[in-house]
Amino acid sequence: MIRVEKLNKSFGDLHVLKDIDFTVKESEVVVLIGASGSGKSTLLRCLNYLELKNDGKIIIEGKETDPKRDDLNKVRQKVGMVFQHFNLFPHKTVLENVIEAPTQVKKIKKSQAIEEAKSLLNKVGLADKADDYPSRLSGGQKQRVAIARALAMKPDIMLFDEPTSALDPELVGEVLATMKELAKEGMTMVVVTHEMGFAREVADKVVYMHDGRIVEEGEPNQLFDHPQEQRTQEFLSSIL
Ligand code: ATP
Ligand code: MG
Repeated sequence: MIRVEKLNKSFGDLHVLKDIDFTVKESEVVVLIGASGSGKSTLLRCLNYLELKNDGKIIIEGKETDPKRDDLNKVRQKVGMVFQHFNLFPHKTVLENVIEAPTQVKKIKKSQAIEEAKSLLNKVGLADKADDYPSRLSGGQKQRVAIARALAMKPDIMLFDEPTSALDPELVGEVLATMKELAKEGMTMVVVTHEMGFAREVADKVVYMHDGRIVEEGEPNQLFDHPQEQRTQEFLSSIL
């Protein structure tokens, strides 16, 4: 589903991703962990072409994208992304936020987009908030709208970059529950998170990054309880 080979990315002289080899199979949930600045967000952003790689291969569903020739919006439709800050349109209602991309980018009929949006809002537990403006929602509700909005494009893969980091602690659970539900339905997901409970419970694989490289990866129990590399051990003892 996702295959990354020898991916390299620099910002000027700063070499941020170094020979990254990374695979995500269909319906797998992969959690990315690592210290601040280790390159987690940059890796996610390369996967949906918000950043362009310098070198290496990114193969998504068997296809390599050429940013010069291919329509990057098409790739981004296949690979949805949810950020730490929800970036909802403040002047649009919840429903309008969710139908924006399907109607404007995909040119889906408004009546159909509304129907699908309502069902997505129902799925994330916000059916009753469809006509509210984002300013009236809690952080957890806003993030669930952001998830519904990404799902409205019917992506094959969802990327989450610290989706609960900006939330008050009591609101984290509802967003993780929504993500867990999505995982259970078979969505292919790559998640950057500090929520190790979520990683243990939901991840098929945990990948530890340090200084732009993948140091170690494995099943959650293996990686958390029996890390092989000293750097992984040090990182885990610093956060757990
Ligand atoms: P955090 O846990 O703090 O979110 P991260 O692992 O997501 O960190 P990245 O955001 O991928 O790390 O950043 C990796 C490195 O690349 C950092 O040194 C960062 O300063 C640098 N970097 C990221 N984006 C840019 C950019 N657009 N221009 C220049 N440098 C950047
Ligand atoms: Mg980051």
